[in-house]
Amino acid sequence: MTARIIDGKAIASELRARVAGEVARVKREAGLTPGLAVVLVGNDPASEVYVRSKHTQTQGAGMASFEHRLPAGVAQADLLALIASLNRDANVHGILVQLPLPKSLDAETIINAIDPAKDVDGLHPNNAGRLAGGFSALSPCTPLGCIILTKSVHASLEGMNAIVIGRSNLVGRPLVQLLLHENATVTIAHSRSRDLAQLTARSDLVYAAVGKAELVRGDWIKPGATVIDVGINRLALADGKTRLAGDVAFAEAVKVAGAITPVPGGVGPMTVACLLVNTLRAACAIHGLPKPSV
Ligand code: NAD
Repeated sequence: MTARIIDGKAIASELRARVAGEVARVKREAGLTPGLAVVLVGNDPASEVYVRSKHTQTQGAGMASFEHRLPAGVAQADLLALIASLNRDANVHGILVQLPLPKSLDAETIINAIDPAKDVDGLHPNNAGRLAGGFSALSPCTPLGCIILTKSVHASLEGMNAIVIGRSNLVGRPLVQLLLHENATVTIAHSRSRDLAQLTARSDLVYAAVGKAELVRGDWIKPGATVIDVGINRLALADGKTRLAGDVAFAEAVKVAGAITPVPGGVGPMTVACLLVNTLRAACAIHGLPKPSV
């Protein structure tokens, strides 16, 4: 028996279509065009690809997209001044500063400068704290995508044993909070955890967000478990080419799991789709409109 493959591309495309429908509705009913501003500092090739895809998909959903490119050597004060102007700009409802930032800039100071109401990456301490407290918040996009993918397999996560491997502010920690909201029982594992294989083997839901290619082996997985692989790692092949690999040994895990996300084509496409969801939600909240139905 092999696992059902969770098609992140198809689920993300359907989500984007629903966002586009809601954007058209708020334009029609409230004269509101949600707008997303993306700030890219420097020219990291991976970040360039992400920013381009965010721009295309934002416009594709009928929203306004504003791109701001700054040189790698930009002064922190100039970046803070740009963020302050985006905070004031009535056409901008979401602000995303593409990470990682050059080492000369203090990411924490930059993130803290974003208006929490426009913090569509969900990284501002106000949003992280609200999420941890169980209050409504803008949540980071990748964990939101992970929950939607899981719910494409299980209508309810209540009482399920989940393991989140990785505790970053971007993925692991907020994912734990979202799983708690879904009433799952959550184990948080990280680089200092012992017996990762045993902890994983008792889990109905496995989330790998580590950044280590194929760390999670097939024989760690409980038969029938749902496996969501967040990792994106580039592996060098013998012929000089490279291939993308997740944090899960897919070829092994697919024989044991009940459902599994591929890399690429699993979590990746969901992240940008959820950014569109957050921008729409932020725009509606800022304008006092009811929460959109996505
Ligand atoms: P990070 O480096 O900030 O955090 C990694 C976490 O893994 C840390 O909490 C660390 O404690 C833990 N860890 C490290 N080694 C470990 C080990 N041997 N055993 C258990 N835990 C260990 O990384 P991140 O930003 O959370 O990203 C994780 C992965 O997800 C990366 O591959 C990244 O490229 C990918 N990612 C994908 C998307 C997407 O859209 N698909 C978005 C964000 C990140």
